[in-house]
Amino acid sequence: MYFVEVILPLSLSKTFTYKVSEAEYNYIKKGMRIAVPFGKSKIYTALAIELHQNEPTLYEAKEIHQILDESPLVTEIQIAHWQWIASYYMCAIGDVYRGAMPSAFLLESETIISQKQDAVVDELQLTDEEFLIYDALQHQSSLKVQDIIAIVGKKNVFPIIQKLIDRNILVLQEEVIELYKPKLTRYIRLHQDYAAEENLVALLDNLKNAKKQKDILLSYFQLNASQKKPISVKQLVENSKVSSTVVKALVDKNIFEEYHLQEDRVSFDKNQKEKNLQLSTAQQQAFDGIAAAFTEKDVCLLHGVTSSGKTEIYIQLIEDYLAVGKQVLYLLPEIALTTQLVGRLTAHFGNQVAVFHSKYTNNERVEVWRQVLEDSPKAKIVIGARSALFLPFQELGLIIIDEEHEQTFKQYDPAPRYHARDAAIVLANSHKSKVLLGSATPSLETYFNAASSKYGLVEITERFGNVMMPEIELVDLKDKYFRKRMKGHFSDTLLENMAEALALGEQIILFQNRRGYSPVLECITCGHVPECPQCDVSLTYHKNKNQLRCHYCGYSMAKPTNCHNCSSVDLTTKGFGTEQIEMELASLFPEKKTGRMDQDTTRGKYGYEKIIDSFKNREIDILVGTQMLAKGLDFDNVSLVGIMNADNMLYHPDFRAFERSYQMMTQVSGRAGRSEKRGKVVIQTYNPNHNTIQQVTNNDYIGMYKEQLYDRHIFKYPPYYRLIKITLKHRDFDKLKEGAMWLYQVMSQNLDMPVLGPEEPAISRIRNEYIRTIMIKIPQNQPLGGIKKTIQKMLNSFEAVPQYRPIKTAVNVDFY
Ligand code: ADP
Ligand code: ZN
Ligand code: ZN
Repeated sequence: MYFVEVILPLSLSKTFTYKVSEAEYNYIKKGMRIAVPFGKSKIYTALAIELHQNEPTLYEAKEIHQILDESPLVTEIQIAHWQWIASYYMCAIGDVYRGAMPSAFLLESETIISQKQDAVVDELQLTDEEFLIYDALQHQSSLKVQDIIAIVGKKNVFPIIQKLIDRNILVLQEEVIELYKPKLTRYIRLHQDYAAEENLVALLDNLKNAKKQKDILLSYFQLNASQKKPISVKQLVENSKVSSTVVKALVDKNIFEEYHLQEDRVSFDKNQKEKNLQLSTAQQQAFDGIAAAFTEKDVCLLHGVTSSGKTEIYIQLIEDYLAVGKQVLYLLPEIALTTQLVGRLTAHFGNQVAVFHSKYTNNERVEVWRQVLEDSPKAKIVIGARSALFLPFQELGLIIIDEEHEQTFKQYDPAPRYHARDAAIVLANSHKSKVLLGSATPSLETYFNAASSKYGLVEITERFGNVMMPEIELVDLKDKYFRKRMKGHFSDTLLENMAEALALGEQIILFQNRRGYSPVLECITCGHVPECPQCDVSLTYHKNKNQLRCHYCGYSMAKPTNCHNCSSVDLTTKGFGTEQIEMELASLFPEKKTGRMDQDTTRGKYGYEKIIDSFKNREIDILVGTQMLAKGLDFDNVSLVGIMNADNMLYHPDFRAFERSYQMMTQVSGRAGRSEKRGKVVIQTYNPNHNTIQQVTNNDYIGMYKEQLYDRHIFKYPPYYRLIKITLKHRDFDKLKEGAMWLYQVMSQNLDMPVLGPEEPAISRIRNEYIRTIMIKIPQNQPLGGIKKTIQKMLNSFEAVPQYRPIKTAVNVDFY
């Protein structure tokens, strides 16, 4: 008897055994997908990870439905890496599999399929079965895979559907409801009826009295002969000097056909390749230092101040790896940064750059997956956010992790709760490739590893082109308020600097780490603050929508006109967010254009790009934003950065608060004066003498590092201890309290290390679920594997207690 061992895309830790024939046994390879039945009637796409002849003892092995791939879609290195992730981050292997693959690869009987809206379908090219599916979708907008099984009259439909997805005819339903609309360019081509020459002659004859239409047609032929690129409507109109209504008339007559392409996917002309850049002396030294470090170590930290030209060093390094045929993975903390980077990299490497992240559609992600698997020349360099780590690299030579200190590299929810930087280092190890971590403000953990020689360390202390580090001026808010030198939330110092910069035509960035208008609406009479009915937080006031909104669950209500508690109409706002700053600017600088960049203004696939582009094009004078601004954007005309209030960052109940405040303020400051003129930063604070603020002012990373490291040691935090945080959630307050206490007691009795809790977190209820947390601190020298096994056993026995079973638990290893 022959069996295949598979992973199912479900939150299950076990793998499952299915029966196969001898022929199938010989055909299947590890990493191929297989459609299998599971449960009563479901079909899933499973992943083969092992072939064997051991019959399972606990259940009778079912037969598979169908083998879906002709060759492996997932490499053995990936399978091993995913298993490492499951075990290190204490989650189900099925969670990793599901999270790693584009969902178009994971068809299941419940998947809902639709026709792609602007699909160009040539019905004659469809097979009978494909036509049946296509035809059914002309009568209803979507179908479940199990409906398709009925329509086609056979179970094995996954490959047919997959092919139609690959050909851009079908899409998964989830994408149809996505809100964004990629920016599309309209292109034109001749209708296929006129492919034959005699028809074309007849057509021209027909049009002899419609001069304009004829002109545009001739113009089209001219363009078509002289360029290989698709012809856009815009180009055609410009070229023929005829209005676009004439084009439309020809489309209506079925002479032209209109189609749409996404702009960033139109092929890039290699001739535009930027000429080789010249590294500065400091850059060249850093480059040589990295090369030297890589001869001894697999990981190197590039600690270079903001605007030291790290990207150019990466580019030079990538060049070397491409030259020997390797693939390069470039991880970014934030999708918003990809546009700028893709621009810089394609200018250098042309069509070898591919992008992979969650805002790309399934079809696009499937395409990149296949290119990486084939080691295609179109995807030698992959830029992506953390999930790009799961791609099927063949010849991975280098991983660059830019802004490595960013916490967004850690996935928070759902499982797998992995840290992309750390998981990348493990992945690189199996590929025998190198990892370059880059940052102006490295995380304490990484700098610690570099300082203790586990990683190589290369530093650049000057900005590119001899630009000076920005000058930082501290403004004492207490004093300013006392002396009545404030207008709204702006000190006179900040306003003077702003007026000066604006007079010179320079741009300004204002940083406020809170969105909305103000975080709290308060009744002056009774002190009542409206809170979210589902979460334990006050609602944030959004003035332009006149709403109160919960930033945890999305709940919203119209702003009340009087207090729900005492009916008083005297309501006031407390604290302030980006929206309020933007409104104050409108009256302070009415003639200037302001923009806002926060979660509220950057929804959708191209939300960021719009704002970043108009700021870059200087259509916006003053940009107000949250921490999104701190993430490595490169603007050349910003001379002033204002930090509206440094204090709310410092006083977060979090052991990383000072480290993060330092990073955030230094990074935002780094946006100032990136070319020629020295930049200026104004930091408004109630605590100008706070160590962290002094460290930012003096650009004293090492001072911050040493102070924080000392605290981490004293208070038992990373890098000296590893943290595992267990979150428990339930709607019943008392049951949760009791369950959390039970688990805590078991853990503290069985683990010979600090176990803290069960704690009520600062926000102790979200979406009507109460929350408790338990924190385990594992000393660095203890064997992690054994401890995790013990923890898992205790979690299993917790789940075995009937009254605690409904309590949800989530394990977060290396909690960030
Ligand atoms: P960082 O990532 O270290 O903050 P960047 O790589 O964005 O810095 O570089 C800062 C600016 O200096 C960019 O505008 C970049 O184009 C420019 N620059 C850096 N190195 C060079 C170079 N060798 N030649 C020309 N311009 C450079
Ligand atoms: Zn009241
Ligand atoms: Zn809420």
